[in-house]
Amino acid sequence: MKLLVTGGAGYIGSVVTAQLLEAGHEVVVLDDLSTGHEDAVPEGARLVRGTLREEALGLLDGGGFDAVLHFAAKSLVGESVQKPGLYWDRNLGESLALLDAMRRADVRRIVFSSTAATYGEPESTPILETDPTRPTNPYGASKLAIDTALAEYARLFGIGGVSLRYFNVAGAHGRFGERHTVETHLIPNVLAVPAGTRESINVFGEDYPTPDGTCIRDYVHVVDLGVAHLLALDACEPGVHQIFNLGNGNGFSVRQVIDVCREVTGHPIPVVVGERRPGDPAVLVASSERIRSALGWKPERDLHQMASDAWAFLQSRS
Ligand code: UDP
Repeated sequence: MKLLVTGGAGYIGSVVTAQLLEAGHEVVVLDDLSTGHEDAVPEGARLVRGTLREEALGLLDGGGFDAVLHFAAKSLVGESVQKPGLYWDRNLGESLALLDAMRRADVRRIVFSSTAATYGEPESTPILETDPTRPTNPYGASKLAIDTALAEYARLFGIGGVSLRYFNVAGAHGRFGERHTVETHLIPNVLAVPAGTRESINVFGEDYPTPDGTCIRDYVHVVDLGVAHLLALDACEPGVHQIFNLGNGNGFSVRQVIDVCREVTGHPIPVVVGERRPGDPAVLVASSERIRSALGWKPERDLHQMASDAWAFLQSRS
């Protein structure tokens, strides 16, 4: 297939682009390089630098594309609370420009990077796709609005859309991995200690109602996530919008993650326990039963593999 990948210079977009190329697809990456890196775009993919508003229509119209994978987004929860307008404009506004460009160019399949943040504070775990969506920040709200727009473009214009709701993505795929300028995620911050760029890891709160008092999250390997995108691409059905959670179905506490990183790196990784981070729910664990039964997806890489692949990636860059 000929595919347009938005945000293919970012962490998840670059890994999935590499997997798409390995599977024999032709890929054009559209990225404004605001947070991505030009050298992260896998060899074999053509990079077009620009925004969806400026470039999507020109690229898609007459370009012979079969489908779009839409990763490009602003994704920092804290920033979204400071600048909600930016998140509505960049996430929802640019996605609508992309959907309209797809409509006009008659490209009918899209796989979209949605998020667990669409659910907000869950009433029960594991979280099902049918659970209420009550995002607690503009980031999650803007992603939920895109899911809603996809459902309408499916119903009204016959687009086939799949929203994949990522839980906590981690790990790397060879030379493609996580390198955010502002790093908020747990695993890269923990590994920064043995890498020598941090003294210790801050644990955000130890008084949650969980067995060791730290928050529990559902970590999924970025390569397993990529496999789900390939399956989702094949599952796009004209006129239908489908939603699938992507997680392992197992929760790990912040303390457990740090222990696995200690094991992988052989470093003691000192911990400083601090205040809770505002807006962090105690437990976020996905039910991925729907994608398992509908598409046959099964996560195959465990937390140890995520930490060791992320660690190998970090070492290869130092
Ligand atoms: N966390 C932490 N220290 C850090 C980064 C994260 O204790 O330096 C905790 C955070 O409070 C949450 C978990 O690790 O409970 C996962 O956070 P992350 O930002 O990786 O993902 P999120 O679940 O917020 O999407």
